[in-house]
Amino acid sequence: MDTERRQSQRLAILGGKPAFSEPLHVGRPNIGDRVAFFHRVEQILNNKWLTNDGPMVREFESRVCGMLGTKHCVAVCNGTVALDIAIRALGMQGEVILPAFTFIATAHALQWQGIIPVFCDIDPHCHHIDPAQVEELITPDTTGIIGVHLWGCPCAITALSDIAQRNSLKLLFDAAHAFGCSYRQQMIGNYGDAEVVSFHATKVLNSFEGGAILTNNDVLADKIRLMRNFGFAGYDKVVYLGTNGKMSEIAAAMGVTNLDRLMDFVDINRNHHETYRALLEELPGLRILACHNDEKHNYQYVVLEIEQERFGISRDLLLRSLHAENIFARRYFYPGAHLMEPYASLYPGSEARLKNTVQVSERVLVLPTGTQLDTSGVELIGDRIRAIQKYASEIVALRTLQ
Ligand SMILES: *Cc1c(COP(=O)(O)O)cnc(C)c1O
Repeated sequence: MDTERRQSQRLAILGGKPAFSEPLHVGRPNIGDRVAFFHRVEQILNNKWLTNDGPMVREFESRVCGMLGTKHCVAVCNGTVALDIAIRALGMQGEVILPAFTFIATAHALQWQGIIPVFCDIDPHCHHIDPAQVEELITPDTTGIIGVHLWGCPCAITALSDIAQRNSLKLLFDAAHAFGCSYRQQMIGNYGDAEVVSFHATKVLNSFEGGAILTNNDVLADKIRLMRNFGFAGYDKVVYLGTNGKMSEIAAAMGVTNLDRLMDFVDINRNHHETYRALLEELPGLRILACHNDEKHNYQYVVLEIEQERFGISRDLLLRSLHAENIFARRYFYPGAHLMEPYASLYPGSEARLKNTVQVSERVLVLPTGTQLDTSGVELIGDRIRAIQKYASEIVALRTLQ
């Protein structure tokens, strides 16, 4: 479709035809070479080794270590269990400080083991935990900090490391968004006491479900390996309280297969990011989050911030208008972990110190990207957003919305 026809097409929310005939979602999986995957599945079945630290899991772990330059990668069944195990292995208890603007699993992993998640506000520019407020929240019960590398951009690693060191706190990073990203030219996976990644289907690299704990600490890595497998240190010998956090061979086969294509996925994401930026960055009231140019990035999240007064319509009405076009953009972490249960009931009143979290969660919108889209699809989404702004007053006036 040429640009003129695209722009003249009536918006779906105003009665036109949807821009896409099939729904487009945020976080559609990137899938590597199918033939290679099926070949690996054959291998697994021939081996009759389906799980329990099998050869495919070991290959996946060593490939990840090679790519990140991290000493240890312990692959597990998902990112949440990776957090659970890392938190327990680090001996966190009492209170742990984390950002309120994160996926709920970061908080659940603490609460699940009876640790109080202390929600900290974020820097409104980068959306990351604000180190200045972290300092204020430290009490005699604080044992650790969890920083989240939201949108794949590293959080304030140096400042948080300094705070953790001065206060003898454990430092864990939830790097679920940041596989393949770097900080000061070193790959994420090498910071804090440990870092946790997710290989969930929606992440840049998926193993269907999966996750890993990354660390350069030998003692910690041994402990984590034992905890992943019920604490078994040998036949008939259990030395820790453990769980079943093992990654299966078939998940690892998917992980290895997708790892072979990771650079292609990232290239596609980067191109989409540039296309979106070219189309959207001049629009008043719209900000598209930038990535640090001299660092490695996976460009997995295309994050907009909509300022209603200047943009012309609210974030939520833009979302509704996009849904009408079959573009299923998403709000993220709305309304913030602190307002979800059980936290809203357990720790009421935390909004007072979470002003930036509240404001950002009301502005953020994440757009579809990845291998599901080609450049013309991204251009079409960009054009629709421009058209929605252009016809904002007509949309706002729609009686059906009242
Ligand atoms: C996806 C995600 C997790 C959880 O990972 P799963 O593999 O889905 O369990 C944790 N934290 C953040 C920030 C995430 O985005």
